[in-house]
Amino acid sequence: MYRIQELIGALSDKEVILRSYAAKSSNTCKICGEPSKSFRTTFSEFEYNISSICQACQDYYYLNEE
Ligand SMILES: [Zn+2]
Repeated sequence: MYRIQELIGALSDKEVILRSYAAKSSNTCKICGEPSKSFRTTFSEFEYNISSICQACQDYYYLNEE
């Protein structure tokens, strides 16, 4: 099961919203704030370009992995 409710909660967080403005230009993740450099697949990289969510957070929220 996807952590969709948790993701919606994270995306509504005030700090995440503030981070989202600078995330792409600074190559960081808007959810965890960590540098976002490597992606496993081109799809993950594409997803980052849209959502500014790093590989680790994509795994956590989309793949249900820790
Ligand atoms: Zn992240």
